[in-house]
Formats: sequence, C-alpha cells, structure tokens
Amino acid sequence: MIAVLKQDTSIQQRDSLINWFQSMGLEVHISEGDFHTIIGLIGDTSKVDIGLLESLSIIESVKRISEPFKNANRKFHAEDSIIDVNGNKIGGGHFQIIAGPCSVENHDQIIEIAQRVKASGATILRGGAFKPRTSPYDFQGLKADGIELLLEAKKLTGMPIISEIMNIKDLELFEEVDIIQVGARNMQNFDLLKELGRTKKNILIKRGLANNLKELLMSTEYIMAGGNENVILCERGIRTFETYTRNTLDLSAVPMLHELSHLPVVVDPSHATGLSRLVEPMAMAAAAAGADGLMIEVHNNPEKALCDGAQSLTPDQFDSVAKKVMKVREAVTL
Ligand code: PEP
Ligand code: MN
Repeated sequence: MIAVLKQDTSIQQRDSLINWFQSMGLEVHISEGDFHTIIGLIGDTSKVDIGLLESLSIIESVKRISEPFKNANRKFHAEDSIIDVNGNKIGGGHFQIIAGPCSVENHDQIIEIAQRVKASGATILRGGAFKPRTSPYDFQGLKADGIELLLEAKKLTGMPIISEIMNIKDLELFEEVDIIQVGARNMQNFDLLKELGRTKKNILIKRGLANNLKELLMSTEYIMAGGNENVILCERGIRTFETYTRNTLDLSAVPMLHELSHLPVVVDPSHATGLSRLVEPMAMAAAAAGADGLMIEVHNNPEKALCDGAQSLTPDQFDSVAKKVMKVREAVTL
C-alpha cells in the first residue's frame, strides 16, 4: 500500500502516522520528494482501514498495491516448487514426459501403449476416462471402467497415472490416480477447484481455451488457498484467429509463468497443435523454452482412435520425439 502525504504535513504529523503504521506490524518505507512524501507499507495491510486513512487531513491519496495471487506467486516463494509423483520429480530442474492415449478405450489398448511409452522414456501414463467432448454424441469415455484399466496399467508397468476429473462427485474413483487433471474447459470451474484444494492430491491444471495467464494463476490460487500446494501448470494452446492449427501454442507462457510463479510448467503440444506432425517440433521447442515436462498423446492405432487421433503419435513416432526432446534438454541445460 502506498500513502501520499500532503505538502504541508509537519514532521511530527508524519512521524505519528508512521508510528501508527508500525504499531500495526507494518514495515514503513519513506520516499521524500520535492513536493510530496510517499510512504510505502509492506506487510499485511488488510488491517489498515483505507477510508479512515483517506479521511486524515494530511493524506493526499492512498493506493492499495497487492498481488492478486499469493500462494502461487514467486515473490512469496523464491525457490522452484518440485512436485514428486511417486518418485518422479517435476520442476526445479526435474523433467518428466507424460504420455498415453487421449482416452482409455480398452484393456489391450492402454496396456500396449503404456508398455511402449515407458520403453521410450515416458515416466507418467496419461489416459482420459471422463472425456469433455464438444459434442454430446461423441465418445464420452469409459468413466469408472477407464480408471480401473488405468490402474491395471499402473500395476503392470509401475508408471504413475494421470486422468481428468470433470465432476467432484467422482473424486473417490481417483484415490489411486497419482495426478488429477483439471482440463482446459474446467479451468474456471471454481467449485471443482475449491474441492480439489481440500485434498492433498497432485493436480495438473490446464490453461483454458481463452484464458490469460493471470486467470490461470488465479484458478491455481483456488486450489492452493484451500491448502493443496501440489499443483502443476499446463500450457496447452489457446484459441486465436489461426485455423491451420487446432490452437495456438503460447510458448512464451513457459518463461512468463516461471517468472510469475514457483510452480512447475508442463506443455501439451498435442492439444496445442491438433496435428501429430507438429508435435515433435513443438515438443522440442517447449523443452528449449524451459518447460518442466511434456504431455503427449500416443495411440497404438491413431486412425482408429475414439478421440483425438489426428494429433496422436504412434509409439514409434513417440520414441523418436522423446529421444530428440532429451537431446534438446541436454543442450539447454549445459
Ligand atoms: C485432454 O488432455 O485429454 C484434454 C481434454 O485436454 P484439454 O483440456 O487441454 O482440451
Ligand atoms: Mn485429447
């Protein structure tokens, strides 16, 4: 908070005001100008009654300058946060590749993909069981059965799993799911975010289709203010006037979010582009931009995929992408 004093304020009046601020536990910074004295207040200024302050005869103006997001803010937490997903760390120099199908379709599909992506270096398996589809007539996911199949794949491969939640009533199904995904469409489902804030689950929150970074961080604040600090941010492209790609990948979000927040940032080049051939260059670019991880859609038969086949890599393509990404990581972390 900043208070500007009137020109004719006496030293005694100024000092008694400063004493009052200090008695409230605030740190006081004074800047003497040619015409005005500016008092900067640092600390919990919620105790200061702005109306009362403004009404004082020596006050010219008062301005509250507080950060809209606190828990996710790097200003209040300088160190990178590291999220530990069953021993796989994300953030603070640790990088993980999350891979798997858009949706879990059947037993053989998820097991085969899990084994293949694991062999290529993915450490976390993705798979949607509850699918947010634009059309209500499209495949909506296997729901509870999909989670069961993911758990089977987890048991068989030892890979931790991530899956999207759409409704908090399904939370108990996610007990053994290692990361709960909040999809782009639910980024501002504040009731869902508040409920997830009451859990201790790892949460990956995706940027909304038309949301700016401040809104993403404010949504994150809903989770963290509830006491859950285990949050990973995900850039997955935003809607722009461009139509050749499904979305526009905002890669500047990676360094910007790192500047603003201590939380890890993962990039999803699959939803960001919508085209499997663009996944490799964008995955490498994300790694070069300092992303803490990637989330890539992989399908053992993309042409037959029930969801997002056009952006899904085959296991062989994923193998090549993962290798190139690791080379980029080596190059940029030298
Ligand atoms: C997904 O990851 O399956 C998904 C639906 O992504 P988004 O929420 O980014 O569209
Ligand atoms: Mn998808």
